[in-house]
Amino acid sequence: MTVRHDENLIAERPTFVTRLECSETGEHYPADQIHNLSRAGKPLLVGYDLAGVKKALSKSALAERPPDLWRYRELLPVRRAADIVSLGEAVTPLVALGKLAKKIGGGELLVKDEGRLPTGSFKARGLVMAVSMAKALGIKHMAMPTNGNAGAALAAYATRAGIKTTVFCPEDTPEVNVSEIELQGATVYRVNGLIDDCGKIVGEGKAKVGWFDTSTLKEPYRIEGKKTMGLELAEQLGWEVPDVILYPTGGGTGLIGMWKAFAELEAIGFIGSRRPRMVAVQATGCAPMVRAYDEGVEHAPRWENAHTIAAGIRVPQAVGDFLILRAVRESNGFAIAVTDEAISKGLEEVARQEGFLLCPEGAATYAAYKQALADGRIGRHERAVLFNCATGLKYPLPPITRTLDRHKPIDYAAL
Ligand SMILES: *Cc1c(COP(=O)(O)O)cnc(C)c1O
Repeated sequence: MTVRHDENLIAERPTFVTRLECSETGEHYPADQIHNLSRAGKPLLVGYDLAGVKKALSKSALAERPPDLWRYRELLPVRRAADIVSLGEAVTPLVALGKLAKKIGGGELLVKDEGRLPTGSFKARGLVMAVSMAKALGIKHMAMPTNGNAGAALAAYATRAGIKTTVFCPEDTPEVNVSEIELQGATVYRVNGLIDDCGKIVGEGKAKVGWFDTSTLKEPYRIEGKKTMGLELAEQLGWEVPDVILYPTGGGTGLIGMWKAFAELEAIGFIGSRRPRMVAVQATGCAPMVRAYDEGVEHAPRWENAHTIAAGIRVPQAVGDFLILRAVRESNGFAIAVTDEAISKGLEEVARQEGFLLCPEGAATYAAYKQALADGRIGRHERAVLFNCATGLKYPLPPITRTLDRHKPIDYAAL
């Protein structure tokens, strides 16, 4: 396929964005203007004329479109095709872990493999939307704190759009992430602190020199991009939702986005009122959502001394905490923490037995699945979806030291 999306078709079509809404107070804000947080300091959510979408979009029309994220354009904020900055955001496959599910006594176990996306992670979904909208709104310089993957996706798309980017990451961010960010045209700094410390620098730069703050949930469009995971999932399952979704939760954009997607799909008549249970997966070394969920509170205070090998979910404090917790509770789901040891073990198990190299965050969802299956929070006949958020190849892999001397006799039977 040479044409990723039909420019004219999109250009002709009305878009259905009507407003932005404060996720806490419901206060409305005009679309087509530059926004960060609401006046209440909370994330803004994009509102659509869903009755209009319902009239304009049918399942059969959708089925004819190219298999990429832009197939859901009626439910996306970009108005003009010319503003779309694409690197080919393909629909990602659902891969069954049949052998392992059987072995551990689970039901149908599917992995949505987000490692197939541009820049090797699902951050591409959010950033392709944020950058396309930034282009549409005339933003010239975007800044971001990142644990790696978001910065890489921002750099790639912003460079394509001709927008300058400055990125800040914790000093122990994996080398591959820092390099890809810089190579893809951003200026990247390692900062002696965690992601929220990096976020403070971006906030000050915004105040002092006018950077656009692209932090998780501090601009309205990354959620809309991440929302497509829920749209895709429902479409791939024949307009059904799974029983349970396990999502490795950092800032929570994907979990919040999918929850929004299901509500919109119901409003346009594509699915019914049934919802998956949403499970927020974190690491025991950084589990602010799990603690808040267990304590029954609405906000999650900062997690001190955050540490985990799953860098993507090392987020001590999230501005969308109440939205994550709300979706988890409304869906009758739960929040669960897994140890780094369980993550490493899960990663190895899935790679060795299913030939599927997960990223550590994806492995965390597998470890959480096993844990929840054992304690009965996930049933043995339920259909569960895990999210593998990035390609396992971006992460350090264990050294293999076995060698073979070709000049000596080889005992082939022993190999
Ligand atoms: C960003 C990221 C996460 C967390 O996603 P959120 O939607 O921000 O919670 C998980 N895993 C990986 C690999 C990531 O890059």
